[in-house]
Amino acid sequence: MAAPYSYLTHLECSKTGHRHDAFAPQNLSNEKHPLLACYDLAAAAETFTPAAIKDRPFDLWRYHEVLPIQEERHCLKLGEGGTPLHPAPTLGAELGILELLIKDEGMNPTGSFKDRGLCLAVSAAFQFDAPGIALPSAGNAGGAAAAYAARAGIECVVAVPRDCPEVNRIEASVYGAEVHSIDGLISDAGRMIAELAPGRGLFEVATLKEPYRIEGKKTMGYEVFEQLGRLPDVILYPTGGGTGLIGMWKAFDEMEQLGWIGPERPRMVSVQSEGCAPIPKAFEEGTEASEMWQDAHTVASGLRVPKALGDFLILAAVRESGGTAIAVSDEELMRDARRIGAAEGIFAAPEGGACLSALRRLRESGDVTEDDTVVLFNTGTGAKYVEAFLGPGAAAQHAEL
Ligand SMILES: *Cc1c(COP(=O)(O)O)cnc(C)c1O
Repeated sequence: MAAPYSYLTHLECSKTGHRHDAFAPQNLSNEKHPLLACYDLAAAAETFTPAAIKDRPFDLWRYHEVLPIQEERHCLKLGEGGTPLHPAPTLGAELGILELLIKDEGMNPTGSFKDRGLCLAVSAAFQFDAPGIALPSAGNAGGAAAAYAARAGIECVVAVPRDCPEVNRIEASVYGAEVHSIDGLISDAGRMIAELAPGRGLFEVATLKEPYRIEGKKTMGYEVFEQLGRLPDVILYPTGGGTGLIGMWKAFDEMEQLGWIGPERPRMVSVQSEGCAPIPKAFEEGTEASEMWQDAHTVASGLRVPKALGDFLILAAVRESGGTAIAVSDEELMRDARRIGAAEGIFAAPEGGACLSALRRLRESGDVTEDDTVVLFNTGTGAKYVEAFLGPGAAAQHAEL
């Protein structure tokens, strides 16, 4: 018998562990928590090895055995994943780090790592014959969702706060999406989508409200391991909803069960902006979950998430890894986004800049040493943040939630 394309077995509630059917479209668990996809990793381990996949195309579908799509014909492809892991020798010398690398997620098809998650979520909707998808977005998610929906030939409805960056509205509409501008916050956009989606039979793909986006994002963990030949000592990740951090943490667990790695893990550093820092606050206070952040504001639109649905998963991963959570100012993160460009030739998003600012602090405090191998995530291209780079005045207009 041929090996299955995917080894998916079931879905599990991230809080209670209750099993849910993986072969029907699912949103939250019965207990209203995020669902996580589970695989028969013991069976997969027999054929799914780094050596066996070595010659596959370098995109995220090379990990199809541990992705939730059942047949290749439902995999929507635009060249997602397989992003470069660049050495950053100039910044490394500046900070006193012998091995500093930048994972450049700005190279994804719509210019951010949202493509990884939405590629999987829209492929799942396509596989389950949904007539379309719907989501709220304050930044890059809407464009990514709209691109994959266009690829699938299904409908896409995006609701954005009226003050979201103009490019995010434009890209979604260019990809043929129905874009609603909402007077209010991202949470108001979320409510609008939750009301509209069921009536039109649309599959809702808001962050962590379905189990597929996290599966796409976890491939960053597999890729970093393959590109480096081992796991780094430290990963800096700009955190909004936290799908990438939770996803990579899940990937490391899977990789251990697959026999790719041992119990070693990188220290995970969750980076946010001082204008919206629920995760660093909860980390410092030692609480299991975060509190809703009031008056959230930052030019790094991807980090403007006042209360993440998976906050308890982010905090657990950061703590278990021996990592930390840090908030930096908008001024610092914009300066460091420019510094990444000038030093390494990578046009980083403000979110990527935030990781460099956080790394400076960790290097000064000695929490990161010269000998640590450090991977910094630049999660999007700076080219989508024209208003932020135009200056503080222009940026501030777009900074309020
Ligand atoms: C969405 C986004 C983030 C935050 O990602 P999460 O996985 O939701 O934490 C960071 N950077 C950019 C550029 C984003 O678009």
